[in-house]
Amino acid sequence: MSTEDPSILGRLDQLYADLARHAEYDLGFPGATDLPDMTAVSRFERVLLNNVGHPYAAGGSYRLHTKVVEHEVVQFVADLVDAPLDNRHGYVTTGSTESNLWALWQARRHLPGAAVFASTAAHYSVAKNAELLGMPLHLIPADDRGEIRYDLLRAAVAEHRRRRYGTGAIVVATIGTTMTEAVDDAALVDEALNLAGVDPGHRWIHADAALAGIPLALCDPLSRPGFTFADGVHSFAVSGHKFLATPFPCGIVVALADRHTGRGSITYTAAPDSTITGSRSGHAPLWLWYLLRYWGRPGLRGRAAAARELAGYTERQLRGIGWPAWRAQEHAFTVVFPRPPQPLLERWPLATDERGNAHVVCMPGKTRELVDRFVADLAHALTGAVSVPKTIAC
Ligand SMILES: *Cc1c(COP(=O)(O)O)cnc(C)c1O
Repeated sequence: MSTEDPSILGRLDQLYADLARHAEYDLGFPGATDLPDMTAVSRFERVLLNNVGHPYAAGGSYRLHTKVVEHEVVQFVADLVDAPLDNRHGYVTTGSTESNLWALWQARRHLPGAAVFASTAAHYSVAKNAELLGMPLHLIPADDRGEIRYDLLRAAVAEHRRRRYGTGAIVVATIGTTMTEAVDDAALVDEALNLAGVDPGHRWIHADAALAGIPLALCDPLSRPGFTFADGVHSFAVSGHKFLATPFPCGIVVALADRHTGRGSITYTAAPDSTITGSRSGHAPLWLWYLLRYWGRPGLRGRAAAARELAGYTERQLRGIGWPAWRAQEHAFTVVFPRPPQPLLERWPLATDERGNAHVVCMPGKTRELVDRFVADLAHALTGAVSVPKTIAC
Protein backbone atom coordinates (compact mmCIF):
# COMPACT_ATOMS: atom_id res chain seq x y z
CA MET A 1 0.00 0.00 0.00
CA SER A 2 1.25 3.49 -0.74
CA THR A 3 -0.11 7.01 -0.48
CA GLU A 4 -0.52 6.83 -4.28
CA ASP A 5 -3.18 4.16 -3.74
CA PRO A 6 -6.20 5.59 -5.60
CA SER A 7 -8.62 4.13 -3.09
CA ILE A 8 -6.91 6.00 -0.26
CA LEU A 9 -6.61 9.26 -2.20
CA GLY A 10 -10.16 8.93 -3.45
CA ARG A 11 -11.50 8.55 0.08
CA LEU A 12 -9.53 11.57 1.27
CA ASP A 13 -10.67 13.70 -1.67
CA GLN A 14 -14.25 12.72 -0.97
CA LEU A 15 -13.93 13.50 2.74
CA TYR A 16 -12.29 16.85 2.04
CA ALA A 17 -14.95 17.82 -0.50
CA ASP A 18 -17.71 16.91 1.96
CA LEU A 19 -16.11 19.01 4.69
CA ALA A 20 -15.65 21.97 2.33
CA ARG A 21 -19.33 21.80 1.42
CA HIS A 22 -20.42 21.73 5.09
CA ALA A 23 -18.15 24.72 5.80
CA GLU A 24 -20.30 26.81 3.41
CA TYR A 25 -23.20 26.44 5.85
CA ASP A 26 -21.27 26.65 9.11
CA LEU A 27 -22.69 29.52 11.11
CA GLY A 28 -24.36 27.76 14.04
CA PHE A 29 -21.35 26.70 16.13
CA PRO A 30 -18.51 28.66 17.71
CA GLY A 31 -15.49 27.69 15.59
CA ALA A 32 -13.25 30.47 14.24
CA THR A 33 -12.21 29.90 10.63
CA ASP A 34 -9.43 32.44 10.19
CA LEU A 35 -6.54 30.12 11.00
CA PRO A 36 -3.38 31.64 9.48
CA ASP A 37 -0.76 29.73 7.53
CA MET A 38 0.83 27.27 9.98
CA THR A 39 3.86 26.26 7.89
CA ALA A 40 6.20 27.50 10.64
CA VAL A 41 5.04 24.72 12.96
CA SER A 42 4.22 22.04 10.39
CA ARG A 43 7.58 20.28 10.78
CA PHE A 44 6.50 19.31 14.30
CA GLU A 45 3.61 17.29 12.90
CA ARG A 46 5.91 14.30 12.45
CA VAL A 47 7.49 14.46 15.89
CA LEU A 48 5.85 12.52 18.72
CA LEU A 49 5.36 15.09 21.45
CA ASN A 50 3.99 14.18 24.87
CA ASN A 51 3.66 16.71 27.71
CA VAL A 52 3.05 13.87 30.16
CA GLY A 53 2.09 14.84 33.69
CA HIS A 54 2.69 18.06 35.53
CA PRO A 55 3.00 21.03 33.14
CA TYR A 56 5.80 22.77 35.01
CA ALA A 57 7.86 19.64 35.72
CA ALA A 58 10.18 20.13 32.77
CA GLY A 59 12.76 18.03 34.58
CA GLY A 60 10.66 14.84 34.34
CA SER A 61 12.21 11.80 32.71
CA TYR A 62 10.52 12.15 29.31
CA ARG A 63 12.18 14.81 27.17
CA LEU A 64 10.16 15.04 23.94
CA HIS A 65 7.69 17.64 25.15
CA THR A 66 6.77 21.30 24.66
CA LYS A 67 6.25 22.30 28.30
CA VAL A 68 8.35 25.41 27.80
CA VAL A 69 5.78 26.84 25.39
CA GLU A 70 2.89 25.35 27.37
CA HIS A 71 4.07 27.42 30.33
CA GLU A 72 4.05 30.58 28.16
CA VAL A 73 0.52 29.83 26.89
CA VAL A 74 -0.73 29.49 30.47
CA GLN A 75 1.06 32.72 31.45
CA PHE A 76 -0.49 34.59 28.51
CA VAL A 77 -4.00 33.56 29.54
CA ALA A 78 -3.27 34.04 33.27
CA ASP A 79 -2.09 37.61 32.55
CA LEU A 80 -5.25 38.35 30.55
CA VAL A 81 -7.51 37.29 33.43
CA ASP A 82 -5.48 38.93 36.22
CA ALA A 83 -4.29 35.75 37.95
CA PRO A 84 -1.85 36.85 40.68
CA LEU A 85 1.72 36.73 39.33
CA ASP A 86 3.06 34.77 42.30
CA ASN A 87 0.05 32.49 42.72
CA ARG A 88 -0.96 30.84 39.46
CA HIS A 89 -1.07 27.35 38.08
CA GLY A 90 -2.56 25.83 34.94
CA TYR A 91 -2.12 23.62 31.92
CA VAL A 92 -3.26 22.92 28.37
CA THR A 93 -6.18 20.47 28.40
CA THR A 94 -8.20 18.59 25.79
CA GLY A 95 -10.89 21.30 25.98
CA SER A 96 -13.15 23.12 28.39
CA THR A 97 -14.88 19.87 29.35
CA GLU A 98 -11.60 18.65 30.85
CA SER A 99 -10.82 22.13 32.22
CA ASN A 100 -14.18 22.14 34.03
CA LEU A 101 -13.57 18.60 35.32
CA TRP A 102 -10.14 19.54 36.61
CA ALA A 103 -11.46 22.72 38.28
CA LEU A 104 -14.29 20.83 40.01
CA TRP A 105 -11.86 18.11 41.09
CA GLN A 106 -9.54 20.72 42.58
CA ALA A 107 -12.49 22.49 44.23
CA ARG A 108 -13.60 19.18 45.76
CA ARG A 109 -10.09 18.53 47.11
CA HIS A 110 -10.14 21.99 48.69
CA LEU A 111 -13.75 21.79 49.96
CA PRO A 112 -14.61 18.12 50.51
CA GLY A 113 -18.36 17.54 50.61
CA ALA A 114 -19.27 20.99 49.23
CA ALA A 115 -22.12 21.21 46.72
CA VAL A 116 -21.83 22.68 43.23
CA PHE A 117 -24.15 25.50 42.11
CA ALA A 118 -24.55 26.44 38.44
CA SER A 119 -27.30 27.94 36.33
CA THR A 120 -29.72 26.00 34.16
CA ALA A 121 -27.94 27.59 31.17
CA ALA A 122 -24.54 26.13 32.15
CA HIS A 123 -22.82 23.79 29.68
CA TYR A 124 -23.83 20.13 29.89
CA SER A 125 -20.27 19.20 30.89
CA VAL A 126 -20.86 20.76 34.33
CA ALA A 127 -23.60 18.23 35.22
CA LYS A 128 -21.58 15.35 33.74
CA ASN A 129 -18.44 16.34 35.61
CA ALA A 130 -20.34 16.73 38.90
CA GLU A 131 -21.78 13.24 38.34
CA LEU A 132 -18.32 11.80 37.57
CA LEU A 133 -16.95 13.33 40.75
CA GLY A 134 -19.98 12.37 42.84
CA MET A 135 -20.61 16.01 43.78
CA PRO A 136 -24.17 17.20 44.53
CA LEU A 137 -25.31 19.77 41.92
CA HIS A 138 -27.94 22.48 42.37
CA LEU A 139 -29.22 24.12 39.21
CA ILE A 140 -30.25 27.74 39.67
CA PRO A 141 -32.72 29.29 37.19
CA ALA A 142 -31.37 31.70 34.61
CA ASP A 143 -33.23 34.82 33.45
CA ASP A 144 -34.70 35.14 29.95
CA ARG A 145 -31.36 36.08 28.45
CA GLY A 146 -29.54 33.18 30.11
CA GLU A 147 -27.82 34.89 33.07
CA ILE A 148 -27.94 33.23 36.51
CA ARG A 149 -30.47 34.66 38.99
CA TYR A 150 -28.18 35.93 41.77
CA ASP A 151 -31.08 36.27 44.23
CA LEU A 152 -32.02 32.62 43.71
CA LEU A 153 -28.36 31.59 43.96
CA ARG A 154 -28.05 33.39 47.29
CA ALA A 155 -31.27 31.79 48.56
CA ALA A 156 -30.22 28.29 47.45
CA VAL A 157 -26.77 28.58 49.07
CA ALA A 158 -28.26 30.02 52.29
CA GLU A 159 -30.84 27.22 52.43
CA HIS A 160 -28.14 24.64 51.84
CA ARG A 161 -26.15 26.06 54.76
CA ARG A 162 -29.22 26.34 56.98
CA ARG A 163 -29.86 22.63 56.51
CA ARG A 164 -26.23 22.09 57.49
CA TYR A 165 -25.44 20.10 54.39
CA GLY A 166 -22.05 21.79 54.45
CA THR A 167 -20.47 25.14 54.91
CA GLY A 168 -18.67 25.46 51.57
CA ALA A 169 -20.03 26.41 48.17
CA ILE A 170 -18.61 25.81 44.70
CA VAL A 171 -20.16 27.96 41.96
CA VAL A 172 -19.62 27.53 38.24
CA ALA A 173 -20.16 30.94 36.63
CA THR A 174 -20.73 30.63 32.89
CA ILE A 175 -18.89 33.36 31.00
CA GLY A 176 -20.76 33.16 27.73
CA THR A 177 -23.48 30.50 27.88
CA THR A 178 -23.58 28.01 25.04
CA MET A 179 -26.99 29.11 23.77
CA THR A 180 -27.11 32.90 24.21
CA GLU A 181 -23.57 33.90 25.33
CA ALA A 182 -24.99 35.45 28.50
CA VAL A 183 -22.43 36.12 31.24
CA ASP A 184 -22.80 35.30 34.94
CA ASP A 185 -21.02 38.21 36.62
CA ALA A 186 -18.46 36.66 38.99
CA ALA A 187 -18.41 39.79 41.16
CA LEU A 188 -22.18 39.45 41.67
CA VAL A 189 -21.78 35.71 42.35
CA ASP A 190 -19.14 36.60 44.95
CA GLU A 191 -21.54 39.13 46.49
CA ALA A 192 -24.35 36.53 46.59
CA LEU A 193 -22.01 34.20 48.52
CA ASN A 194 -21.21 37.04 50.94
CA LEU A 195 -24.92 37.60 51.52
CA ALA A 196 -25.43 33.85 52.03
CA GLY A 197 -22.76 33.95 54.73
CA VAL A 198 -20.14 31.78 53.00
CA ASP A 199 -16.67 32.30 54.41
CA PRO A 200 -14.13 33.42 51.74
CA GLY A 201 -11.99 30.37 52.54
CA HIS A 202 -14.96 28.08 51.97
CA ARG A 203 -15.93 29.16 48.48
CA TRP A 204 -14.69 28.34 45.02
CA ILE A 205 -15.88 30.22 41.96
CA HIS A 206 -14.98 28.60 38.66
CA ALA A 207 -15.35 30.69 35.49
CA ASP A 208 -16.33 28.53 32.53
CA ALA A 209 -15.32 30.95 29.77
CA ALA A 210 -14.94 28.44 26.94
CA LEU A 211 -15.92 30.80 24.14
CA ALA A 212 -16.04 34.33 25.49
CA GLY A 213 -13.11 34.45 27.95
CA ILE A 214 -10.39 35.81 25.69
CA PRO A 215 -12.50 38.34 23.74
CA LEU A 216 -14.05 39.68 26.97
CA ALA A 217 -10.65 39.91 28.65
CA LEU A 218 -9.52 42.20 25.81
CA CYS A 219 -12.40 44.66 26.40
CA ASP A 220 -12.19 47.72 28.60
CA PRO A 221 -12.68 46.29 32.16
CA LEU A 222 -15.22 49.02 32.92
CA SER A 223 -17.42 47.94 30.02
CA ARG A 224 -17.60 44.22 30.78
CA PRO A 225 -19.00 41.94 33.47
CA GLY A 226 -16.68 40.56 36.16
CA PHE A 227 -15.10 37.20 35.42
CA THR A 228 -11.40 37.45 36.28
CA PHE A 229 -9.32 36.54 39.32
CA ALA A 230 -9.58 40.23 40.33
CA ASP A 231 -13.36 39.70 40.47
CA GLY A 232 -13.03 36.76 42.84
CA VAL A 233 -12.75 33.64 40.66
CA HIS A 234 -10.48 30.79 41.77
CA SER A 235 -10.21 28.99 38.45
CA PHE A 236 -10.81 29.79 34.80
CA ALA A 237 -11.40 27.64 31.69
CA VAL A 238 -11.19 28.58 28.01
CA SER A 239 -11.27 26.47 24.83
CA GLY A 240 -8.55 26.65 22.17
CA HIS A 241 -10.71 25.61 19.23
CA LYS A 242 -13.29 28.36 19.68
CA PHE A 243 -11.96 31.94 19.64
CA LEU A 244 -8.31 30.87 19.36
CA ALA A 245 -9.00 28.89 16.15
CA THR A 246 -6.85 25.79 16.70
CA PRO A 247 -7.85 23.20 14.06
CA PHE A 248 -8.37 20.52 16.75
CA PRO A 249 -10.05 20.62 20.20
CA CYS A 250 -7.95 21.81 23.15
CA GLY A 251 -8.30 24.16 26.11
CA ILE A 252 -6.49 26.02 28.87
CA VAL A 253 -7.24 25.98 32.58
CA VAL A 254 -5.78 28.45 35.10
CA ALA A 255 -6.20 28.33 38.89
CA LEU A 256 -4.79 29.84 42.05
CA ALA A 257 -1.63 27.89 42.85
CA ASP A 258 -2.20 27.99 46.60
CA ARG A 259 -5.46 26.12 46.06
CA HIS A 260 -3.90 23.50 43.81
CA THR A 261 -3.09 20.00 45.00
CA GLY A 262 -1.78 17.10 42.94
CA ARG A 263 -1.49 13.45 43.87
CA GLY A 264 2.20 13.31 44.66
CA SER A 265 5.08 12.36 42.42
CA ILE A 266 4.96 9.35 40.11
CA THR A 267 8.13 7.28 39.98
CA TYR A 268 7.61 6.23 36.36
CA THR A 269 7.53 9.80 34.97
CA ALA A 270 9.43 11.54 37.79
CA ALA A 271 6.76 14.28 37.71
CA PRO A 272 3.86 15.12 40.01
CA ASP A 273 0.49 13.71 38.88
CA SER A 274 -1.59 16.88 38.75
CA THR A 275 -3.49 16.66 35.46
CA ILE A 276 -6.61 14.70 34.40
CA THR A 277 -4.96 12.78 31.57
CA GLY A 278 -1.42 11.44 32.02
CA SER A 279 -0.12 11.67 28.47
CA ARG A 280 -1.02 15.06 27.05
CA SER A 281 -0.69 16.68 23.64
CA GLY A 282 2.58 18.49 23.01
CA HIS A 283 1.20 19.82 19.72
CA ALA A 284 -1.79 21.68 21.19
CA PRO A 285 0.41 24.00 23.33
CA LEU A 286 2.68 24.60 20.34
CA TRP A 287 -0.19 25.54 18.02
CA LEU A 288 -1.68 27.76 20.75
CA TRP A 289 1.68 29.39 21.44
CA TYR A 290 2.22 30.14 17.77
CA LEU A 291 -1.26 31.62 17.36
CA LEU A 292 -0.94 33.78 20.49
CA ARG A 293 2.46 35.05 19.33
CA TYR A 294 1.25 35.52 15.75
CA TRP A 295 -1.78 37.63 16.71
CA GLY A 296 -0.63 39.09 20.02
CA ARG A 297 -3.08 41.11 22.07
CA PRO A 298 -3.70 43.71 19.30
CA GLY A 299 -4.44 41.03 16.70
CA LEU A 300 -6.75 39.15 19.04
CA ARG A 301 -8.55 42.38 19.93
CA GLY A 302 -9.02 43.21 16.24
CA ARG A 303 -10.48 39.76 15.52
CA ALA A 304 -12.91 40.16 18.44
CA ALA A 305 -13.97 43.62 17.24
CA ALA A 306 -14.59 42.31 13.70
CA ALA A 307 -16.63 39.39 15.04
CA ARG A 308 -18.79 41.72 17.16
CA GLU A 309 -19.26 44.03 14.20
CA LEU A 310 -20.48 41.06 12.13
CA ALA A 311 -22.81 40.02 14.96
CA GLY A 312 -24.34 43.53 15.00
CA TYR A 313 -24.73 43.36 11.22
CA THR A 314 -26.41 39.93 11.45
CA GLU A 315 -28.81 41.15 14.12
CA ARG A 316 -29.79 44.14 11.95
CA GLN A 317 -30.20 42.05 8.80
CA LEU A 318 -32.43 39.53 10.60
CA ARG A 319 -34.60 42.27 12.04
CA GLY A 320 -34.69 43.76 8.55
CA ILE A 321 -36.56 40.71 7.29
CA GLY A 322 -38.86 40.81 10.33
CA TRP A 323 -37.17 38.05 12.34
CA PRO A 324 -36.74 39.23 15.97
CA ALA A 325 -33.03 38.74 16.67
CA TRP A 326 -31.22 39.80 19.84
CA ARG A 327 -27.90 39.52 21.71
CA ALA A 328 -27.58 38.74 25.43
CA GLN A 329 -24.88 41.39 25.94
CA GLU A 330 -23.17 44.03 23.84
CA HIS A 331 -19.92 42.04 23.45
CA ALA A 332 -21.57 38.82 22.27
CA PHE A 333 -20.74 37.14 18.95
CA THR A 334 -23.94 35.11 19.30
CA VAL A 335 -27.18 36.29 17.71
CA VAL A 336 -30.32 34.59 19.08
CA PHE A 337 -33.67 34.36 17.28
CA PRO A 338 -36.78 32.15 17.14
CA ARG A 339 -36.20 28.72 15.67
CA PRO A 340 -36.51 29.00 11.85
CA PRO A 341 -38.69 26.64 9.79
CA GLN A 342 -37.39 23.07 9.51
CA PRO A 343 -36.34 23.17 5.80
CA LEU A 344 -33.88 25.96 6.64
CA LEU A 345 -32.40 23.95 9.52
CA GLU A 346 -31.73 21.09 7.15
CA ARG A 347 -29.62 23.38 5.00
CA TRP A 348 -28.09 25.35 7.88
CA PRO A 349 -27.42 23.18 10.96
CA LEU A 350 -28.18 25.41 13.98
CA ALA A 351 -28.31 24.59 17.67
CA THR A 352 -31.80 25.02 19.10
CA ASP A 353 -33.07 24.94 22.69
CA GLU A 354 -36.24 23.94 24.53
CA ARG A 355 -37.34 27.60 24.73
CA GLY A 356 -37.67 27.61 20.93
CA ASN A 357 -34.52 29.64 20.27
CA ALA A 358 -31.82 29.12 17.67
CA HIS A 359 -28.61 31.07 17.15
CA VAL A 360 -25.73 31.87 14.85
CA VAL A 361 -22.26 32.57 16.21
CA CYS A 362 -20.32 35.23 14.29
CA MET A 363 -16.84 33.86 14.90
CA PRO A 364 -13.67 35.38 13.43
CA GLY A 365 -13.39 34.30 9.80
CA LYS A 366 -17.14 34.38 9.15
CA THR A 367 -18.14 36.92 6.50
CA ARG A 368 -20.99 39.23 5.54
CA GLU A 369 -21.35 37.15 2.39
CA LEU A 370 -22.06 34.02 4.50
CA VAL A 371 -24.51 35.95 6.69
CA ASP A 372 -26.24 37.44 3.63
CA ARG A 373 -26.76 33.97 2.16
CA PHE A 374 -28.19 32.76 5.46
CA VAL A 375 -30.55 35.71 5.83
CA ALA A 376 -31.69 35.40 2.20
CA ASP A 377 -32.41 31.68 2.71
CA LEU A 378 -34.34 32.46 5.89
CA ALA A 379 -36.36 35.19 4.15
CA HIS A 380 -37.16 32.68 1.42
CA ALA A 381 -38.13 29.96 3.93
CA LEU A 382 -40.38 32.43 5.74
CA THR A 383 -42.30 33.45 2.63
CA GLY A 384 -42.63 29.74 1.86
CA ALA A 385 -43.91 29.06 5.38
CA VAL A 386 -46.43 31.91 5.21
CA SER A 387 -47.78 30.86 1.83
CA VAL A 388 -48.23 27.19 2.81
CA PRO A 389 -51.08 27.70 5.30
CA LYS A 390 -52.72 30.12 2.82
CA THR A 391 -52.75 27.48 0.13
CA ILE A 392 -54.22 24.96 2.56
CA ALA A 393 -56.86 27.46 3.70
CA CYS A 394 -57.93 28.01 0.09
C1 LIG B 1 -18.01 24.82 24.32
C2 LIG B 1 -18.26 24.98 25.77
C3 LIG B 1 -17.79 24.05 26.70
C4 LIG B 1 -17.12 22.78 26.27
O1 LIG B 1 -15.90 23.06 25.73
P1 LIG B 1 -15.05 21.97 24.92
O2 LIG B 1 -13.76 22.68 24.75
O3 LIG B 1 -15.79 21.78 23.63
O4 LIG B 1 -14.96 20.75 25.75
C5 LIG B 1 -17.97 24.30 28.04
N1 LIG B 1 -18.60 25.40 28.46
C6 LIG B 1 -19.08 26.33 27.60
C7 LIG B 1 -19.75 27.54 28.15
C8 LIG B 1 -18.94 26.14 26.22
O5 LIG B 1 -19.43 27.06 25.38
